[in-house]
Amino acid sequence: AAPGTALLEAANLRKTFGGLVAVNDIGFAVRAGEVVALIGPNGAGKSTTFNLVTGVARLTAGAVRLRGTDVTGLPARRIARLGCARTFQHVKLVAGMSVIENVALGAHLRGAAGPVRGALGLDAAEEAALFAEADRQLARVGLTACRDLPAGSLALGQQRIVEIARALCLGPQLLLLDEPAAGLRHQEKQALGDLLRRLRQEGLGILLVEHDMDFVMGLADRLVVMNFGAKLCEGAPAAVRRDPAVVEAYLGS
Ligand code: ADP
Ligand code: MG
Repeated sequence: AAPGTALLEAANLRKTFGGLVAVNDIGFAVRAGEVVALIGPNGAGKSTTFNLVTGVARLTAGAVRLRGTDVTGLPARRIARLGCARTFQHVKLVAGMSVIENVALGAHLRGAAGPVRGALGLDAAEEAALFAEADRQLARVGLTACRDLPAGSLALGQQRIVEIARALCLGPQLLLLDEPAAGLRHQEKQALGDLLRRLRQEGLGILLVEHDMDFVMGLADRLVVMNFGAKLCEGAPAAVRRDPAVVEAYLGS
């Protein structure tokens, strides 16, 4: 997509769990070639917002559009295939499987083969194509050297990047990352930041949830600040940092 094209438009998102309003009338957009960060205290509704956008959780109300197409209520698998790939807050690699096998699981989701087909097995040509795509994405993120190691043997920062490679196998225009920098060492954060800047340069839109303010401030083009399920404010990092409501609710704490 051309830089600036709206990839994701979320409007009036709402999610309740019983009497709890986890997400309350949230709206925002992500365009091609920009990094948007969703920030806010624990329990603010950030992960739930991700789940609503990606079809992992069902909306109570609101609408989600991907490149102008209404995807509200579509299952997660279809939304992923429409160009919106994600990682989860907690690492979801199969520790005992090799890095390349973990990445190939993502390539598998991209193909026409459904889960039943997958369980029955692929023919040799299909399998070769999956691994070729996985190898391309592993090279793209710079982890070819780790290809045949057990995923669980990698440092956490590398595991996070393997997850990104797996998401990239879907051929997304939009990448959603839930707390990709959490628990990483300084150098690992730098490597992650470098990768995300490169993907942005390639024209991807990136939406990330992040707690690490230094990481976010140096990376995001725009911040969306959430508190108690609602949007507190939105803007460039420097402006958000000075917003008194944000300082009180989040940055000051
Ligand atoms: P964040 O990611 O910003 O820390 P979450 O989106 O995980 O926040 O949670 C927002 C609120 O919704 C919290 O109060 C949380 O306890 C609640 N919540 C999240 N998922 C569920 C669920 N599946 N069932 C009930 N409550 C939930
Ligand atoms: Mg969360």
